[in-house]
Amino acid sequence: MKIRKLRFGLFFSLIKRSFSVDNEKSYDVVIAGGGLMGLSVAYFLARRITPSSVCVVERDLQFKQNSSVRSWGSIRHQFSIPENIQMSQFGFDFLKNLNCYLGSESEDFVDVQLKYGTYCFLASESGKAVLEENIEIQRTENVNISSLSKEKLFEKYSWLNTEGIAIATNVDIGEGWFDPWLLLTHLKNKICSMGVHIIEGDIISLNMEGYKISDAVLKKPNNEIIKLNCGHLVNATGAWANSLSHMVNVDLPVRASKRVTYVVHCPDGFNDPVLLFDTTQNFYIRPECSKHYIVASHPEKEEYYDANLNFDVDFEYFQTNIWPKLAYRIPVFEKLKVSNAWVGYYDYNILDQNGIISAHPEIDNFYFCNGFSGHGLQQSPAAGRAISELILDGHFTTLDLSRFSFERFENNDLVMENNVI
Ligand SMILES: Cc1cc2nc3c(=O)[nH]c(=O)nc-3n(C[C@H](O)[C@H](O)[C@H](O)COP(=O)(O)OP(=O)(O)OC[C@H]3O[C@@H](n4cnc5c(N)ncnc54)[C@H](O)[C@@H]3O)c2cc1C
Repeated sequence: MKIRKLRFGLFFSLIKRSFSVDNEKSYDVVIAGGGLMGLSVAYFLARRITPSSVCVVERDLQFKQNSSVRSWGSIRHQFSIPENIQMSQFGFDFLKNLNCYLGSESEDFVDVQLKYGTYCFLASESGKAVLEENIEIQRTENVNISSLSKEKLFEKYSWLNTEGIAIATNVDIGEGWFDPWLLLTHLKNKICSMGVHIIEGDIISLNMEGYKISDAVLKKPNNEIIKLNCGHLVNATGAWANSLSHMVNVDLPVRASKRVTYVVHCPDGFNDPVLLFDTTQNFYIRPECSKHYIVASHPEKEEYYDANLNFDVDFEYFQTNIWPKLAYRIPVFEKLKVSNAWVGYYDYNILDQNGIISAHPEIDNFYFCNGFSGHGLQQSPAAGRAISELILDGHFTTLDLSRFSFERFENNDLVMENNVI
């Protein structure tokens, strides 16, 4: 521990950069990143403290690369870790009661197009035991889940080729999908109306005094340099979280990991509200709108990026790696047209693919809300609330998320989730 502190000190004296500052402001809490995590932290703080003492810094208010708006907007209770289930349960409750949370005099009906559905995990004989184990855990967390035999699966989804499937899952209530852009917009409007400050700018440096972060320096689009003195600093920079942490010599096991979503049009496609994850063939699909479906698969090998993200789509990959599997499992998809595709980046935790919801053990006014690896959108209300508790109460007061601490990496106490999509 002592050695690390020494390293911090040495590091700062070596690289502390000075900028000619045009303007200076002070906030109790500065949140780096204006995606759903950052906005959610701001929202839950603003419910309890003077909203204008909270500031969100976002480098691109058009959200061109942001993961929240490039996500699928799906929510599920089918996890294997109780805390993940509980976080998504709160997420679902938040979405269902959005008007109570985000409604205001000027906007009394807040809609994010929440569609009720189910995830349906398909597993072969070799994956059956894990799925059954997950189901047991989910039931203890009051998830209304059932397992389907091959025959029952076919009864429910007659469009499916059930060859090689030993077990499938179905949840009656608590899963589905919504429009992430709408949620981001409503949350942003809400916190602005409460009085939270949102500043467009790129944080280019974090500075320390002793073992606390004293200020963040940001560059605005007009090149103005602003120094924000802060009582607390939250890292909510998604796939870029490691770059921000590096500004204070902290290595975070979070990397940007590329995902491509293909949009296909299939006139004879299914109508059921189901997100099908075929674990036997590694692809997943769900309906988007009027016979359009979104499809993706896990990369065979994760490739990590820190900066310079590319947003190129490999259409060939769909042709050779996804389409044959899709058409095998759902034969009507032999006839389809790829109508669109987009790239987004997971905020991928390379060690255990779970969120880091924690203060730093040594820089105790530095908080992480990072590394959600494909399930961050649905967990953003719970994660935002949890970070607000850490800042204001010093500990978790609603859900106990202490297993998602930063220290788990130092103690090798990883929390492995079976159901990572
Ligand atoms: C294709 C895809 C599908 C997904 N599907 C789902 C799903 O169905 N369900 C689910 O729950 N999750 C899903 N996810 C994951 C989810 O989108 C993310 O976990 C979540 O959006 C992370 O939110 P965030 O606010 O941390 O990151 P972002 O939304 O990426 O926000 C981070 C923000 O920080 C800003 N920023 C970065 N560095 C700086 C800096 N130095 N200064 C200022 N601003 C900075 C960025 O511009 C960005 O806007 C998916 C992700 C992808 C890519």
